Amino acid sequence: MAAVDLTGVEKSYGAHRAVRGVTLTVESGECLALLGPSGCGKTTTLNMIAGFIDPDAGEVRIGGRPMAGVPPYRRDTGMVFQQYALFPHLTVFDNLAFGLTMRRTPRAEVAERVRQALALVHLAGLERRYPRELSGGQQQRVALARALVIRPAVLLLDEPLSNLDAKLRQEMRIEIAELRRSLGITTVFVTHDQEEALVIADRIAVMHEGVVDQVDTPTAIYRRPRTPFVARFIGDANFLPGRVTARDARGLVIDTDAGVTVVASDDVARAGDRVIVMVRPENLRLSLDTTAEPNCVQGVVRTIAFTGAVTIYQVVVGSATVTAAVHDTTHLAGVATGTKVHAAWRAGDALVLPEPA
Ligand code: ADP
Ligand code: MG
Repeated sequence: MAAVDLTGVEKSYGAHRAVRGVTLTVESGECLALLGPSGCGKTTTLNMIAGFIDPDAGEVRIGGRPMAGVPPYRRDTGMVFQQYALFPHLTVFDNLAFGLTMRRTPRAEVAERVRQALALVHLAGLERRYPRELSGGQQQRVALARALVIRPAVLLLDEPLSNLDAKLRQEMRIEIAELRRSLGITTVFVTHDQEEALVIADRIAVMHEGVVDQVDTPTAIYRRPRTPFVARFIGDANFLPGRVTARDARGLVIDTDAGVTVVASDDVARAGDRVIVMVRPENLRLSLDTTAEPNCVQGVVRTIAFTGAVTIYQVVVGSATVTAAVHDTTHLAGVATGTKVHAAWRAGDALVLPEPA
């Protein structure tokens, strides 16, 4: 049985449709990231799972049970809010004990479970402190322990790392991923940070203007994005809009608006369709000579930027500019701004995406 099911869930604020028919399943023990830019409806969706917001339409089920009319504290969910929302006038111990006392847990058990939860997040010994006496990272850990101490079936995290500095964020990212894996707890994790989603999640749901564009594993999201939005949100992408002219032995033949003809493997598009050809910068191979690849277009180098591990070349191809990320530049020695080069890629490295309406 799925741990969480959303079916056609909708929520408007006045005339603004914040969540527009989201259907999602989170499997038991899985970590699903809800990923998207600010304002796309992630927090609203999470709050509908937690029960802090009632959907206008659609259904939320947890462990198969419909949640309509069930208040947050009876949903078997633990939530970490973006601003932590610790009780400032309560000690760390009492912040954690609060939810247990609400659930009428015996006092001796409360003490033991608070101790265990604090040990999990490496905060043993800080029971008597107040939130203001803790660093940002420690407050974040208390918020996480407070969500875990009730042993919820589902852990809900709303951008839990966004208030931390970059280094701590990276450490906590790995810590949270390991902790939730060792506990095997079903998790819905909201973030606008693609790297965070790639590191922590088993599957990623990419949200865009209140809609889930795609739900897939991190690798599938990266290698086979289904919309231009997903392709651009996860990683960098070159887009060449154009029209399909034929299908031949090499694949789909597309006349791009940039003025070059390319081929791509795709099973869906037909002759006459408007499409967008997408190629990742690391899949573009630059060379001085023409190659035997089915896709090999001539261009002129516009900029070269050394960034450490890779060198980024912008190449003008027809009326478009494409970006290539090159690890080993040995064969490009002497290439400078204005040099004529060839950019090649395999048909299988070009994805054909529908042109957005
Ligand atoms: P995210 O978490 O992805 O940044 P939210 O779910 O918080 O997005 O918000 C989605 C949209 O709904 C945004 O445009 C936001 O401004 C709007 N919104 C959120 N909460 C409210 C509210 N209480 N009243 C009015 N508009 C809201
Ligand atoms: Mg939010």
